[in-house]
Amino acid sequence: MRKLTDRSAAFIADEERFGAHNYHPLDLVIEHAEGAWLTDVDGNRYLDCISAYSAVNQGHGHPRIRQALIDQAQKSTLTSRAMRNDQLPRLLKKLHDVTGYGMALPMNTGAEAVETAIKLARRWGYERKGISENAAEIIVFSNNFHGRTTTIISASATAEYRRSFGPFTPGFVFVPFGDADALELAITPNTCAILIEPIQGEGGVIVPPEGYLKRAWAMCKEHEVLFIADEIQTGFCRTGEMFCVDHDGIRADIMVVGKALGGGFYPVSAALADESLMSLFQPGDHGSTFGGNPLGSAVACAALDVLIDEKLAAKARYAGATIMQALRSVASPQIVDIRGRGLLIGVELDRPARALSYALLERGVAAKDTHERVLRIAPPLTINDDEIAYFVNAFRGAIAAS
Ligand SMILES: *Cc1c(COP(=O)(O)O)cnc(C)c1O
Repeated sequence: MRKLTDRSAAFIADEERFGAHNYHPLDLVIEHAEGAWLTDVDGNRYLDCISAYSAVNQGHGHPRIRQALIDQAQKSTLTSRAMRNDQLPRLLKKLHDVTGYGMALPMNTGAEAVETAIKLARRWGYERKGISENAAEIIVFSNNFHGRTTTIISASATAEYRRSFGPFTPGFVFVPFGDADALELAITPNTCAILIEPIQGEGGVIVPPEGYLKRAWAMCKEHEVLFIADEIQTGFCRTGEMFCVDHDGIRADIMVVGKALGGGFYPVSAALADESLMSLFQPGDHGSTFGGNPLGSAVACAALDVLIDEKLAAKARYAGATIMQALRSVASPQIVDIRGRGLLIGVELDRPARALSYALLERGVAAKDTHERVLRIAPPLTINDDEIAYFVNAFRGAIAAS
C-alpha cells in the first residue's frame, strides 16, 4: 500500500487553491518519471498505464530524446517562422519518410493540428470541390474527442465539453460512430470532409466494427469527400501499427498527429497531407509562433527515431496481446467488456471505474477512468514482461478488492 505524507497534501492543496479546477486528477504528485515508472513526492512508485494520454509512447525520459533536447537547447530553441532553422527541414523530411505524406504543417498541440486540418478541408471544399462560400460541412462522430478549442468543441457531441461555451462554429454534421449507413446518408454535395478517430480514445476506447473504416474511406472516395484521420492518440505505434488506419489498409487524405511526436518532452503536432492539398495554404494563411521551432523539431526527430529503431509497433502488438489475454482470464461480474488494439485497451465496468482506479493506485499502478465506466490501460510501449506481470497481478488484486 502506498504511503502519503503531508508533502503530497501540501502540493495538492496549493494546486487546488491557485489553479483552475478544470481537471479531476488522481491524487498522486509525481516528482520523477523514467521508462514505465512514476515516483511520487513521497517515494511511492507506480507503473504508468496512462502515459500522458499516449504522449509518452517511448517511455518517460527516454535517454536519446532527452539528449536531443539538451543538445538542441544549447544551440537554438526558437526562431519563429519569420526565418528558417536547421532542424525543421530534418523533421519535415523524417515525417515524409515515416508517413509517406508529401508535406507536413507543424503546430504544437493536438487541437491546433486539428484546427489546421479543418481549415485545409474547408478551403479545399471551396477552391477545389466548388462548394459555395460558407456552406462547407464536415461530418463528425458521436462521442468524438478532437480537443478543446471553441471550433473543436463545436464539433463535439459531449454536453460536458460544450456547456455554456456557445455560440458554436457552424458547419459540423453529427453521425453515430460505427454506423456506415448513417454516414452515407449524411453526405451531401456540401460535405468537404469527415473527421474521425480510428479508435475513439477519450470516448472510452471504442473500436469501430470490422470493415467500417474501410467503408467510410471508400464512401469518401466515391463522393469526393476528404477523409481526415485524427491519429493524435492512436498514432505512432500505440495500436500495434505505426498508425491505426494501417490495420485497415487505408490512407487518409489528411492525417493529424501530435502527442507521442514530442516523445513526452515537448508539444509537437502536425497536419499531414500531400502537396496537391497542402499547396492550398499560401504565405500568411495560417501559422504559429512556436510551430516548427528548432527545439521541438529536434525532439520530434529523436522521438520518431526511437519508435522505429526500438520497433515499438511490434512491442505494442506483443504486449497488448499479452495483457488482453490476461485480462480476459480475470473472472469478475464487474467487467462488461474488454476491448482495444495494441496497447490502447479499455475495460468497461458495470459501475464507475474510479474505485478500480484507486484500488490500482494502492497496488502501484496508475490507470484512469475515461467516460466514467471505462478504465483505459495504455502504458508506454516499452513495457517489458516483468512489468506486464506486475500490472496483471495488481489488476487481479484491485478488481477483487473494489
Ligand atoms: C489528445 C487528443 C487531442 C487534443 O490534443 P491536445 O494536445 O490536448 O490539444 C485531439 N484528438 C485526439 C484524438 C486526442 O486524443
